[in-house]
Amino acid sequence: MTPTVVQLLSQARQCLAERLQLPETEARIEAQLLLSRALGGVSRAWLITHEQDTPALDQHQTFESLLERRLNGEPVAYLLGQREFFGLPFNVTPAVLIPRPDTEILVETALALIPDQQAMRVLDMGVGSGAIAIAIAKNRPQTQVVGIDRSEAALEVAKANAEALDAPNADFLLSHWFSSLGGEEFDVIVSNPPYIAAGDPHLAQGDLRFEPSSALASGTDGLNDIREIVAQAPGHLKSQGWLLLEHGYDQAKKVADLMRANSFIEVRSVADLSGILRVTLG
Ligand code: GLN
Repeated sequence: MTPTVVQLLSQARQCLAERLQLPETEARIEAQLLLSRALGGVSRAWLITHEQDTPALDQHQTFESLLERRLNGEPVAYLLGQREFFGLPFNVTPAVLIPRPDTEILVETALALIPDQQAMRVLDMGVGSGAIAIAIAKNRPQTQVVGIDRSEAALEVAKANAEALDAPNADFLLSHWFSSLGGEEFDVIVSNPPYIAAGDPHLAQGDLRFEPSSALASGTDGLNDIREIVAQAPGHLKSQGWLLLEHGYDQAKKVADLMRANSFIEVRSVADLSGILRVTLG
C-alpha cells in the first residue's frame, strides 16, 4: 500500500526524533519541510489539508532519499538549498555557512548605527551567503554595502542572492580580509568571522560537520581572524566609523580588550536572544 502524507510525516518525525535526538517540534517541522520539498515545493499548510493524499512513487522516493541524507546528518538548509535570515529567504550551498538566528543581532546593531536617509558605505567581511550584507542593504536602500570573501564559490552564492532578493546596493569582491581592498574608508565594518577554536569538539557535531571549516575555525583560541581584522580595521574606517564583530559566547572580553589595544573607543558588547554577549563594537 502506498503511504499517505500523514503516514510519511509521522514515520519521518519518529526517525528524526530518535536518530538525531531532535525535540518533537523540530522533528515535526523538519519532516514537513522535507516532504514539502519532495512534493515540489508545496506549503506546510498544504500538507495539513492533504493528509490523506498518496504521493506518487517518484515523490515518495525523493522524500526517502532526502530523509536518509538528513538522518546521516546533512543540515536541512543544505538539503533544501535555502534558509531564512532577517525575514529574507537566502539560497545556501555547502560552500557557505548556514545563516544563524544569533547573527540577526549583528544586523540589528549595525542598522541602529546607519541612519535611514544617509548614504553610508558599509563593509561586510566574509560574506558567505551574503545574509548580513543583503539584510543591511535591503533595510538601508541609500547605503552602499561591499561584501568581501576569500571564497570564489561563496561570492557566487552571495551575488545570486543579491540578485534574487533585489539588492542592487550590495556589491561583492574577492579578498582575504583587507588584502584586495584599496584605500577606501568605510562608515561601518561588520563581520561574522570564523571564531571557533580549531580543536573544539563542536566542530565534529551536528550541522558544523558539513559547513566550510574555513568559515568556522580560527587558530588554537579561535581568535586568529578577529585579531587580524581588529588590527587592520582602523586603516579602513572613517574617524567616527564603527567596527562590529560577532564572536563566541566566551570571547566578548577578549575582543573588547583587543579593540581597546588597537585604539578603538566606546567599546561595548551586545547580547543575542539567548542573553549571550555575541557582538562587540567600537
Ligand atoms: N555561531 C556559529 C556556531 O557556533 C559559528 C559561526 C562562526 O564561527 N562564525 O555554530
